[in-house]
Amino acid sequence: MQKITVLGATGSIGLNTLDVVACHADKYQVFALTCHRQVETLIRQAIIHQPEYLVITDPDYYSQGKELARQANVTAEVLAGSDALIHIVEHADVDCVMAAIVGAAGLLPTLSAVKAGKKVLLANKESLVMSGSLFIQEVHKSGALLLPIDSEHNAIFQCLPATYLYGQAQSSGIDKILLTGSGGPFLNTPISELASKTPQQACAHPNWDMGRKISVDSATMMNKGLELIEACWLFGLLPQQIEVVIHPQSVIHSMVQYNDGSVLAQLGNPDMRTPIAHALGYPERIDSGVNKLDFSNMRNFSFEQPDFKRFPNLRLAIEAANQGQYASTALNAANEVAVEAFLQGRISFTDIARLNNDVLQRTSSLSLDSIDAVIEFDQQIRDQAQHYLQGAA
Ligand code: NAD
Ligand code: MG
Repeated sequence: MQKITVLGATGSIGLNTLDVVACHADKYQVFALTCHRQVETLIRQAIIHQPEYLVITDPDYYSQGKELARQANVTAEVLAGSDALIHIVEHADVDCVMAAIVGAAGLLPTLSAVKAGKKVLLANKESLVMSGSLFIQEVHKSGALLLPIDSEHNAIFQCLPATYLYGQAQSSGIDKILLTGSGGPFLNTPISELASKTPQQACAHPNWDMGRKISVDSATMMNKGLELIEACWLFGLLPQQIEVVIHPQSVIHSMVQYNDGSVLAQLGNPDMRTPIAHALGYPERIDSGVNKLDFSNMRNFSFEQPDFKRFPNLRLAIEAANQGQYASTALNAANEVAVEAFLQGRISFTDIARLNNDVLQRTSSLSLDSIDAVIEFDQQIRDQAQHYLQGAA
């Protein structure tokens, strides 16, 4: 029986994870669940999964969550604040941690799970974007098993040789990675109309049902940019070894091209329960509850190159990947501020890339040689981005 902590249990990945776990009560037991503010969902999940711990990271929501737990006779110990996350990932009883908190808030708990040598299912791409080599060094040091949940990285992982190890893929005859992306809801929208797109339109992804931050990132294709950086660290590749390919149907989740001309692809319906079940069961294969692909219904597989005029955020992310860690960390921080401002109606859709560009162009190179330095720098860039936002208002 494997005991699992789900960080960010109330989000889109968290819900899908618990869905897969519920199909395999003989294999997996929930040890702890966390949320930031959605305490009602958290308590509903606790009634079903009977974890030993619940963590509510926003302290303002703690007393409400604790009271709901009492009314529902939930026996789990309820803890408050981000520091409590460390306890429930490092705990000796925990075998596996699903890292599904959104944004930079996921970095420290995910890293703690890695340091504790757990099996870590990595959905939180931002932690790897922020701290790349420091993060991977800790994986090597602790011997943690880091398995990608992002559908593209999970696909690449499945198409890599069995000898795959973080940072050693280059020796395996790999020519390049073909990182696929749907192009999001605005792939065919006239560029002149993008400035007036609303948060609701940006979050209406044609193929995937996801949290709001990643949905906006998919509409700007910053998501593909963050994924390119994530793939560099996970697979030890250079940015120029990764080619972004637009594939609007979201059936091929990414491909690996080898030196002999072979291209291996992983296909499946666009449903996150497939990569979650793959990583959860690894190295075995377990049922995910996802409908199987029906090839008789597949009329059209199309591919195109991304247009950087439409998706300036993708160009910025590739630039940042080439510039180095400081640039990726800065871009990630600026983008979190920009996306939040867009979701709050404070800036337009096209202002997201404008703000990211302003921040990136004004950031000078520096070396980030510790996690403390990463966190301090991340905060500095957020402050700067907020400052630009106020100037723009
Ligand atoms: P979501 O917004 O649906 O859920 C986020 C979760 O994190 C919630 O449980 C929320 O309570 C928690 N949270 C939010 N802010 C927090 C904070 N400051 N501190 C602690 N917890 C906090 O997001 P999601 O779509 O599930 O995405 C989660 C992560 O997985 C993201 O990093 C995203 O990029 C990645 N991812 C998601 C998908 C997807 O299909 N949703 C696919 C690939 C990767
Ligand atoms: Mg993805």
